[in-house]
Amino acid sequence: MLYLDNSSTTPVYPEVLEEMLPYFLEEFGNPSSKYYSLAENSKNAVEHAREQLGKFLNCSSTELYFTSGATESNNWILKSVSSTLPDHQVITTVAEHSSNLEIAKYLNEQLNIHVEYLSVDQFGRINFSELESLLKKRPTSLVSIIWGNNELGSLNDIQRASELVAQYGALFHTDATHVVGKMRIDLSELTNVHFLSASAHKFNGPKGIGIAYLKKDEDGIPRKLTPLIHGGGQEQGIRGGTLAVPLIVGMGKAAEMHQASLTKNIKKLEKLEAYLVQLLTQKFGSNIRFNSDHTNKIPGIVNIQFVGINNEVLVKQLAPVMAVSTGSACSSSKPSHVLQAIGLTLDEVRSSIRFSLSSNIELKDLEIFKEL
Ligand code: PMP
Repeated sequence: MLYLDNSSTTPVYPEVLEEMLPYFLEEFGNPSSKYYSLAENSKNAVEHAREQLGKFLNCSSTELYFTSGATESNNWILKSVSSTLPDHQVITTVAEHSSNLEIAKYLNEQLNIHVEYLSVDQFGRINFSELESLLKKRPTSLVSIIWGNNELGSLNDIQRASELVAQYGALFHTDATHVVGKMRIDLSELTNVHFLSASAHKFNGPKGIGIAYLKKDEDGIPRKLTPLIHGGGQEQGIRGGTLAVPLIVGMGKAAEMHQASLTKNIKKLEKLEAYLVQLLTQKFGSNIRFNSDHTNKIPGIVNIQFVGINNEVLVKQLAPVMAVSTGSACSSSKPSHVLQAIGLTLDEVRSSIRFSLSSNIELKDLEIFKEL
């Protein structure tokens, strides 16, 4: 069975699992305990992982906070930042992940915060003049823009967007869940990106662990967000709960491995994607239409309409030989809001499939498409 649903999740690398195992067994100490070696070893392992992630994203490890994943990071950042200035608006986009859209809806409906949604073009990218006119209209606390779209792969120009937002004195967040491990990220260059979310399981780490990047303020002081999860003194007192040491260790190792092979993996994914596009075009011709762009995108994500064919039926039929999806796993019961936002009709949305590749497969694996 060929697994082409890597945007939903990825397998844990064996080396990652190996690194995690001792922290379930021998090294089971609570990193918040003190003095004895089981506790100190756990604490050191957590801080080592934080360093690995800091190197991977090129930020200070002290700006990284462990969460249960990008869902929690998105919820935390949007809720906490907007609550500091409840009379200011929040700007997000119509093409975000459901975890962003649902917290935005909550902010508006329950906390009475004004929320604006940027529209997107035919490939899911934002429009800068629309962003600027919204920023001019009302004072803004936070702008949140997805970096690489999970359904289409399209990239937003985060540098440009964050610089524009900074001119209006607002803070900037990006959901980088699908960019981490697929593109080089250098947060030291993105000086106006204040917040970022990511999940380990999208880059061959374990599920249930992620990060929130909270950039230090201009004076180098950690940004003290109101906790989403109240608890003990963990994570500088702003994210409670006993740290998930094995998962954190796994995420650190996955980051280190992806950092080492990033250039190679990007090239491979680009090659695989080009071959997939070629095979599908040869096989299906005018019976398919590409929803995703071919450039300025995360390599390896291809979204295609199979004209006149129901996507649920197709995914089910393909299931014995291949794993693909109709879009985000988190919203799989509904027709994709992202594809509707780029202007597709409901019929077109219901005939669209997302292929998301992995650098662990080979060109010859894709030849299965010749036999369909
Ligand atoms: N943002 C995006 C763009 C995603 O694709 C996902 C996961 N599908 C999330 C956030 C949430 O990640 P998690 O489920 O790991 O919390």
